[in-house]
Amino acid sequence: MESEGDSNNLSGVQHIILVLSGKGGVGKSTISTEIALALRHAGKKVGILDVDLCGPSIPRMLNVHNMNVHQCDSGWVPVFVDQEKSISLMSIGFLLERPDDAVVWRGPKKNALIKQFISDVAWGELDFLIVDTPPGTSDEHISTVEALRPFRPMGAVLVTTPQAVSIGDVRRELTFCKKLGLPVIGIVENMSGFVCPHCTECTNIFSKGGGEELAKYAGVPFLGCVPLDPSLTQTLELGKDFLQEFPKSSTYTSIV
Ligand code: ADP
Repeated sequence: MESEGDSNNLSGVQHIILVLSGKGGVGKSTISTEIALALRHAGKKVGILDVDLCGPSIPRMLNVHNMNVHQCDSGWVPVFVDQEKSISLMSIGFLLERPDDAVVWRGPKKNALIKQFISDVAWGELDFLIVDTPPGTSDEHISTVEALRPFRPMGAVLVTTPQAVSIGDVRRELTFCKKLGLPVIGIVENMSGFVCPHCTECTNIFSKGGGEELAKYAGVPFLGCVPLDPSLTQTLELGKDFLQEFPKSSTYTSIV
């Protein structure tokens, strides 16, 4: 049964978006971060819940990896990323003693923490909560979707790279969403072409357009392509202000 605490902590959240990918390393956390930052740029208040328990990379991307979370009466207070407090983040990364500690847990313990993350973070009022999930379609995903179901998530954004292996995995994600009754907001094709740091021309080093074709085939929206951009990696890894570095990118606007 849903506890009082559950509804209190997510009752001020207007929209919940899950970000899924079939594989690790395709840029799911990067796209989650981009969506959050673009929403903030559009004047929205955003929370990010990083439930990628074995690979929590968002604290580093947002340059808050040295911060700690605190407890209040209704649970954990998330870490505020910016001075205006328009982006808040909760991640297992904040609970580890050392940043390179590994989470070596069996499924039930992970599932329990996911449920706790969903019920015990005091988000306050948010326009959007972006939930960055682990790669694949595991037990942890089912726990996440089930625990969020009472709060009616808006749906899932699926991230793929253009290669056939990644596209194949996204097909499985589509089936997963269908089985769990989770609406698909759309597909993002990441690492779609390479932006030369010298002349900024974009070259397709892998195939291109697979994500768009799959979206057409599956009858779900295609949200856009994000090229492989060394300056993007640098911006995220050095924790620079993403939207100051990429003020005019149409891709991020099209994702939002
Ligand atoms: P995942 O969450 O799917 O495991 P990440 O978002 O952590 O993947 O991305 C893996 C690595 O690739 C990170 O170092 C990230 O900065 C980099 N990366 C992801 N997308 C892009 C992109 N479009 N351009 C440049 N680097 C990217």
